[in-house]
Amino acid sequence: MSIWANVAPKATEVRSREDVVIVGSGPAGYTAAMYAARASFSPLVVEGLSPGGLLQGTDVVENFPGYPKGVLGPQLMVDLREHAERFGARFLTRDVDRVELASTKGADHRLWAGDQQIAARAVILAMGASPRTLGVEGERELGGGRGVAYCAVCEAPLYAGRDTIVIGGGDSAMEEALGLARHARSVVLVHRRDEFSASPIMRKRVQGSAKIRVLTPWVVESFVAGSDGKLVAARVRRVPDGTIQELAAEGAFVAIGHTPRSSLVQGSLRTDARGYVTCRPGSRETSVTGVFACGDLVDSRYRQAVTAAASGCEAALDAQRYLETL
Ligand code: NDP
Repeated sequence: MSIWANVAPKATEVRSREDVVIVGSGPAGYTAAMYAARASFSPLVVEGLSPGGLLQGTDVVENFPGYPKGVLGPQLMVDLREHAERFGARFLTRDVDRVELASTKGADHRLWAGDQQIAARAVILAMGASPRTLGVEGERELGGGRGVAYCAVCEAPLYAGRDTIVIGGGDSAMEEALGLARHARSVVLVHRRDEFSASPIMRKRVQGSAKIRVLTPWVVESFVAGSDGKLVAARVRRVPDGTIQELAAEGAFVAIGHTPRSSLVQGSLRTDARGYVTCRPGSRETSVTGVFACGDLVDSRYRQAVTAAASGCEAALDAQRYLETL
């Protein structure tokens, strides 16, 4: 019986059956595609309507191995995509709207992407995570290399000798501030409360840095652009009394946490309390047999392009081993 027997087709629908479908197109998704392609599975990457993941919105990436002179984020994604394509990966530039994950080993999983219905023997999830935004005036306009950014670990050297600010009070904010302090002229850490959720050791390191000034309890009201359209200052407000101050800064790093992009599979497989997809110990397989996950979708801690790529490789190898058992 056809796998589609109990699904009524629409006149315009296109159907296919795949060995491996990869959902997502950051470093994790494209690396998984490259490995699955080299294993002769001719994977289909459903790369979304805005392919490339978070690096698509970054400027120069200086910490991806093999690019000693740095590489523009969008160019890195083109290179990773091309690498996967060279070995036979195929791409569908659509968003996945819905999935139905099979509960028994060997049964096909189903995905819907626009007018396409796809049956997959194995699925690799690599939808990533989105940095939380402040939602204040100027934030969106000053993103994309114009001063407001979400990963100082990636971009800190670009701010050598400049005045910068970091927003947040968790471990990420501490790490961002410490990383920036190695390069920037000054770092002001702006946090909305006097208490920090960051671990004591990270707070101690921040307190011990001569370059970092901690400003609490203050919040950013807006980001201010100069005549060249780049960030020149952040307008901040003191929480108890509403005092306004302007902090001169050429770089502002928002580090207020991430949200995993797991809504597509919420309820279909196991996630942790924050929504990150969980994998079985020592494996990239999720709680659903034949469904694997990698990249920022599973990782709240490292969130680097290179660690995402590595976990994409692991997911593809686990998927390959799984398919060989069917
Ligand atoms: P967290 O959720 O731990 O911290 C988020 C921070 O942002 C909090 O200080 C929070 O303030 C603040 N915040 C949230 N929303 C807003 C807002 N709208 N405006 C202003 N401030 C806001 O996220 P992290 O990314 O810091 O950490 C995530 C996980 O990763 C943690 O488990 C952390 O320990 C781990 N991690 C570990 C590292 C390490 O060990 N080296 C490095 C980085 C992360 P409030 O407290 O008031 O809610």
